[in-house]
Amino acid sequence: MPELPEVETVRRGLNQVTLAQEIQGGDVLLDRTIARPLSVDEFLAGLKGSAIAQWHRRGKYLLAELTKQTQPAGWLGVHLRMTGQLLWLDTQAPLQKHTRVRLFLGDAKELRFVDQRTFGQMWWVPAEMQPEAVITGLQKLGLDPFSDDFSVNYLAQQLRQRRRPIKTALLDQALVAGIGNIYADEALFLSGIRSTTLCSDLKLEQIKRLRTAIIQVLQASIEAGGTTFSNFLNVQGVNGNYGGVAWVYNRATQPCRVCGTSIQRLKLAGRSSHFCPQCQS
Ligand SMILES: [Zn+2]
Repeated sequence: MPELPEVETVRRGLNQVTLAQEIQGGDVLLDRTIARPLSVDEFLAGLKGSAIAQWHRRGKYLLAELTKQTQPAGWLGVHLRMTGQLLWLDTQAPLQKHTRVRLFLGDAKELRFVDQRTFGQMWWVPAEMQPEAVITGLQKLGLDPFSDDFSVNYLAQQLRQRRRPIKTALLDQALVAGIGNIYADEALFLSGIRSTTLCSDLKLEQIKRLRTAIIQVLQASIEAGGTTFSNFLNVQGVNGNYGGVAWVYNRATQPCRVCGTSIQRLKLAGRSSHFCPQCQS
């Protein structure tokens, strides 16, 4: 599943290749990929003639800001979910088996949405509406870890109210948007906190370390992912690379890179948690 760093990498890639080009038309091969509007024709008609001014990211949602003759023309929203990929291709390129949506941007180029598991979604938001009004998942999102508002105070305040394991809280998108299983395990290792520690038991010093570690692991992964692609926005190729250099993620029974103790795994809220029993308390 693409995590925040992969989505951020895709966003940066899209900003390199798709800006200021008019969406001339499109083709929807799987209707239910379009979450809103309910009519596929309305989706395509809404986008037609718009240019992409800028790609933004909110958590794992990609939002293209659209303009028509320099006037705001709404938004195109994309969520990759489990297996979605946005590819920048020549329109002549053979269709992938799981091609769901094609958007034609001129110069015989297209933005192609390929999605094997079909959980990915797209939205068109008209100019007179806010993205949150149409893309309801945005309403529940907590702060982005790269936002200036993601402060020690914010995190401390959020955690104080929660009596559940810190690992479970980190995966809650309403608390911090975009942290997945890999980065939660890695950030907890770097901050020396055991995944099962209750949020309400964390000391301010630990919360400070945790905030720094969250930003650090995400940043490191974006830097690693951002170097591996050009026009081919292959999130799957990037996804999982982090596993190769992980401190604890997916390393159960292997020696801790710091102290040599065997990394342990346990299940928390249905997800695997990896930790060093020596380095994390
Ligand atoms: Zn250790």
